[in-house]
Amino acid sequence: MFSDIAKKVNEFKAAHPEANVIRLGIGDVTKPLPSAIINAMHAAVDEMANASTFRGYGPEQGYDFLVNTIVENDYKARGLDISADEIFVSDGSKSDTGNIGDILGLDNIVAVTDPVYPVYVDTNVMAGRAGELQANGKWNKLVYIPCTSENDFIPSLPTEKVDIVYLCYPNNPTGTTLTKDQLKVWVDYALQNKVLILFDGAYKEFITESDVPHSIYEIEGAREVAIEFRSFSKTAGFTGTRCAYTVVPKTVMGYTKTGEKISYNKLWNRRHTTKFNGVPYIIQRAAEACFSAEGKKQIKDIIDYYMNNAKIIREGLASEGLQVYGGVNSPYIWVKTPKGMTSWGFFDYLLNDLHVVGTPGVGFGPSGEGYLRLTAFGTLENTKEAVGRLKKISI
Ligand SMILES: *Cc1c(COP(=O)(O)O)cnc(C)c1O
Repeated sequence: MFSDIAKKVNEFKAAHPEANVIRLGIGDVTKPLPSAIINAMHAAVDEMANASTFRGYGPEQGYDFLVNTIVENDYKARGLDISADEIFVSDGSKSDTGNIGDILGLDNIVAVTDPVYPVYVDTNVMAGRAGELQANGKWNKLVYIPCTSENDFIPSLPTEKVDIVYLCYPNNPTGTTLTKDQLKVWVDYALQNKVLILFDGAYKEFITESDVPHSIYEIEGAREVAIEFRSFSKTAGFTGTRCAYTVVPKTVMGYTKTGEKISYNKLWNRRHTTKFNGVPYIIQRAAEACFSAEGKKQIKDIIDYYMNNAKIIREGLASEGLQVYGGVNSPYIWVKTPKGMTSWGFFDYLLNDLHVVGTPGVGFGPSGEGYLRLTAFGTLENTKEAVGRLKKISI
């Protein structure tokens, strides 16, 4: 999908070189790293130049200074019981949500919400768990759980047997969330049915409402059934800097074919130390700086900036009578296409008539048809200009 979008945008620009095309389709941050993080990186670079402070291979799971800071700030401070040996620092949640399949059996049945972050589907296709692609755009061995305006984007429990489910909240691409009660339904289901929940919390820092969980471990029982993925990419502008972590509680158990219990923590530790040699020292110092008082304040200012853009998009489009979702606890706004247009039909209209680029919802899965994703990661100026054009919508 993203190459199709690039092709259409480039063709349009070649034909209309004078047009000011605004991209509200990007899933990447645009603000630079704040000074607290840059200063920590500079200091770490200098340490690398000195024999007494130089670092070579570090612990594959991450340096203690970072792991302990994560435990203190992201878990203990919220009253959550996660220990240092349950945290695995990595180069990204894209890699982790894909690599986790290394420790899971190939005949497991995988469920995904639909629409979905494409990495979960594509990595299972590569591993051989997805089966064959059908004419309706679905892989025949995957279980798709539709999330649309008809069910308020709240996934219902699968009716067939499932072993693994990916949940991402706040959600990319819909920008919607689950409340604690709604997420508890899934944790209870997983406990009763021996289902492993792979919970992607890449957008937790964008949460503004109090009944939305920041971590799945806020739900009682989740320590028995859930692995949590977190990334500094969107929350702290690390998309190009690369640092994330995965939490595998020692209490989460898998089962062999004969029903024997296996610790996923041990399996993941083995996988991680075998195939990964750690995140660079300089980058881990940068990640640590996200938790200093200055770092927290600077990061919050950037998130507030993006969330102000989200508000402008959401309110601007809603005032024109468009149906919009998300944008309250996430940087994504999920727009219902007007007058029954297809995702690509609306994309083409926005590009050709308003010179605004979105992302067609259908690219995230069959249930994304009839929607388009806009993001709040642009500049304030461009966001205002794009919303002004969208107000002139004539369909
Ligand atoms: C951006 C994003 C990530 C972060 O991926 P990184 O590899 O850490 O940059 C993870 N999950 C979702 C759903 C995302 O949108």
